[in-house]
Amino acid sequence: MFANPRALIAFFVLSVLILLTANLPAFTEETTTHPLLSRAAWGASPALLGMRPHKPYSIIVHHTGAKQNARLGLTDKLRGLQKFSQSPRKMADGRTLPPWPDLPYHYYIGVDGTVGEGRDVNYAGDTNTKYDTTGHVQVVLEGNFEVEQPTAAQIAALKKVLIWQASRWHVQISKISMHLDHAQTLCPGKNLIAILPQVLAELQQQNR
Ligand SMILES: [Zn+2]
Repeated sequence: MFANPRALIAFFVLSVLILLTANLPAFTEETTTHPLLSRAAWGASPALLGMRPHKPYSIIVHHTGAKQNARLGLTDKLRGLQKFSQSPRKMADGRTLPPWPDLPYHYYIGVDGTVGEGRDVNYAGDTNTKYDTTGHVQVVLEGNFEVEQPTAAQIAALKKVLIWQASRWHVQISKISMHLDHAQTLCPGKNLIAILPQVLAELQQQNR
């Protein structure tokens, strides 16, 4: 078949290259957190000035603190949250706070388990509480888990997002934390706080 030895070598090298590339894992956002609603898909406005670049080394879980709403689509929720974030915010105590440059969270898990892309994960998030958000991937689940439960779809999506982000930024599962580990808050709500250790234990088991 190969009269010329150089042709034989070329054929061999090419075959090895094809085999190697065929075995690379296809690790993309779509395959790991499907369905992911990208910023382009929900029609995000550009971030305002004041974004702080960071390199994530940890992941923090939140709840929105507002009741789940299955009738409103994720697109409308994310647009609403961005509009709220990028406007001066009136606090309950009468203070007015300056706008945030973008949504405070990087990933938003809707009541149906759909995951929306929030702030660009390469920039630190924002908070009304007192702690430094630098280096944390902020993941929020829709709901007020002081009074309601996360849905099964939300927990399934949370697992995917946590595995995806943990492997992306080399965060140990044991280092995934909750908002109340960092600041004075009830977030992410007692009903999620009650089940998160079990969720993390399952992820640790899977990762072995
Ligand atoms: Zn929170």
